[in-house]
Amino acid sequence: MKLYEFQAKQIFSRFGIPVPPGKMAESPEAAAEAALELGGRVVVKAQVHAGGRGKAGLIKLADNPEQAAEHARAILGRAFKGFLIQRVLVEQAQQFTREYYLALLVDRASKRPLMMASAKGGVDIEEVAATEPEAIARLTIDPAFGPFGFELRDLIARAGFDPTVARQIVAIGEKLYRVFVETDAALAEINPLMVTQQGQVVAADAKFDVDDNALFRHQDLLVYKEEAEEDPIEAEAHRRGVTYVHLNGDIGIIGNGAGLVMGTLDMVTRNGGRPANFLDVGGGAKADLVRQALEIVLLDKNVKAILINIFGGITRGDEVARGVLDATSSMDISVPIVVRMAGTRADEGLKMLEGTSLIPVGDPEQAARRAIELARQREAAA
Ligand code: GDP
Ligand code: MN
Repeated sequence: MKLYEFQAKQIFSRFGIPVPPGKMAESPEAAAEAALELGGRVVVKAQVHAGGRGKAGLIKLADNPEQAAEHARAILGRAFKGFLIQRVLVEQAQQFTREYYLALLVDRASKRPLMMASAKGGVDIEEVAATEPEAIARLTIDPAFGPFGFELRDLIARAGFDPTVARQIVAIGEKLYRVFVETDAALAEINPLMVTQQGQVVAADAKFDVDDNALFRHQDLLVYKEEAEEDPIEAEAHRRGVTYVHLNGDIGIIGNGAGLVMGTLDMVTRNGGRPANFLDVGGGAKADLVRQALEIVLLDKNVKAILINIFGGITRGDEVARGVLDATSSMDISVPIVVRMAGTRADEGLKMLEGTSLIPVGDPEQAARRAIELARQREAAA
């Protein structure tokens, strides 16, 4: 679960990490009011689950409440990377001398928390990571002990941080580690970690991602769950209890078993197609479940063909065929559906689909290619 910047800052602040004072606003008037309350210069920041706001003009400095309202008016209601901006964070502007980068994530290679630090923080960190990876210092942390003070000091020195603020950053690093562990986070990132003209270090931005599987033990974080701006189709699938992940292609994928679905995604990709989603209907591919799956997949308007790939084990091929037929006969579907089946009673199932609007194919590669071909035809026709 990704948190918005203002939510992440609330949590960071609870753990003692300094953040600038700020207020949320959902309208230009509220932004002006917030600016008035904060006094002086403010920064108006779009709250959206996507990075790169600064470069997109979604982080704007305002000298007075009127200007804050103007910026909010320009930002609110805009779409950015597929998200609608409904809120801005109005925050006391910082006069800074430096922008650092400090982050914690789970490193899959070492299977440990990894802290990363760089003196080249700010909006170009991705470029820094790509072109001069040596500018990002790393510290792999032993979870049995957490980071030792000397390790953090060493990291800070290697990152090239100003020694006069090292003490403050050690303290922030320790707190960031505590937040990370205690909330079961997958990512906790501060970029920029600003050094102000007064020599104070503050978290001017915050990116925070909490492991959904651990949410059950974080009642306090559940309030953010409702506000989490999930992909709308994923949210709907979630409500219906369907395992679904939205991808960016145009071929809808439905299968039973996560392994089979992933294999199907690979097959489509290998043959030059682009999967629109991952959708696992699990063991029993009953009519109702197939209908739910089709409905979810069809919510994605990019879908130009659907590939259903079922392995009949406990679920028999003829049952699946009946399920798909039942579901599709009561739905108005214009997208071509290729059905591939194997296993128990697969032949019977495929036979049942002959002469219907469904396209039965026995061989998986062939089924993938057929779906890709049909998607292309639709694309060309559109
Ligand atoms: P991001 O682009 O989505 O990562 O958004 P950030 O919150 O990191 O802001 C982007 C950039 O805006 C920062 O790197 C700063 O250069 C600038 N910025 C953000 N907050 C302030 C602020 O309070 N004062 C000033 N002067 N600049 C800011
Ligand atoms: Mn940032």
